[in-house]
Amino acid sequence: MEEREIIIIGSGPAGLTSAIYTSRAGYKPLVIEGIPAGGQLMITTDIENFPGFPEGITGPELIANMKKQAEKFDTEFLMSKVTKADLSSSPFKIQAEDKEYSAKAVIIATGAKARYLDLPAVEALKGKGVSACATCDGFFFKDKIIYVIGGGDSAIEEALFLTKFGKEVNIVHRRNQLRAGRYMQEKLLNDPKVNVIWDSVVEDIKDVEKGKVEKIVLKNVKTGELTEKDADGIFMGIGHAPATDIFKGQVDLDEKGYIAVKQGTQTNVKGVFAAGDVMDPHFRQAITAAGTGCMAAIEADSYLVSDSK
Ligand code: NAP
Repeated sequence: MEEREIIIIGSGPAGLTSAIYTSRAGYKPLVIEGIPAGGQLMITTDIENFPGFPEGITGPELIANMKKQAEKFDTEFLMSKVTKADLSSSPFKIQAEDKEYSAKAVIIATGAKARYLDLPAVEALKGKGVSACATCDGFFFKDKIIYVIGGGDSAIEEALFLTKFGKEVNIVHRRNQLRAGRYMQEKLLNDPKVNVIWDSVVEDIKDVEKGKVEKIVLKNVKTGELTEKDADGIFMGIGHAPATDIFKGQVDLDEKGYIAVKQGTQTNVKGVFAAGDVMDPHFRQAITAAGTGCMAAIEADSYLVSDSK
């Protein structure tokens, strides 16, 4: 078993910021990156609100810069997925594929993954016209009819990106008011390629038997009316769920399933910290993830220097 002082699980802005701080403090941390590495920013096109980049920056570029900065101070990266974690006693045991590690402190920064609508047709047609990643799959829908489900920033961002490809982009939102910020709303509502279908939910997607998306069945939640429309691609923009499966029963989660933290980033297990979207049901921005990554690193340092002794 390989012994480490600090292991960071996850390589989005939270994990990488923790890596920059802990490596700069001399810990030589190991970052187990997760697969795919880099988290949600890897599928984000233009980031216009991360301070320090007045012209904007793409998600993959921002992640590459953060990684380079962490490497400069001696962070080690392992492109692997954590398959098992034993946080019952210190040193903690972390298994990544075939290898086992022990760590005096662990920072969990596993982020969140996209949610899909809970419909049998969605499950059956995933990757066959149903997607949760416009930047990955948008290209396949050149001149096609696209639907995006949801009314938050992710849905709007996906819809605006998809206007580059689709001949029409329809947003389906279950209320008559978008949740997204005003700037994004204005951008969306001024785009001639976008049509918003209000007060509506997806009732079904066809055709599961043919193994491809051909129709979307929408239900108006106010009138109960069902409408069937031609569709080629359907993108989920209904939010994210924290990636906590391997930590269930080991650290406390809140009622929504996010890792519960106190005084910043401390979990109920001494020596285990959480940062980024895995512990933040509210802000979920790249900058707040980076901020909590920094906090977790400082807390891990002070734990290793004093509390663990
Ligand atoms: P979100 O804000 O939680 O929005 C989810 C959307 O999906 C809401 O409009 C919600 O409807 C809808 N929805 C949820 N479950 C649904 C269901 N079962 N059926 C139909 N619709 C459903 O999630 P998000 O858009 O992923 O954003 C998460 C956070 O990241 C936010 O804080 C956001 O500001 C941030 N973010 C920021 C940017 C940016 O600044 N550029 C980009 C992406 C995300 P209701 O509105 O009715 O609840």
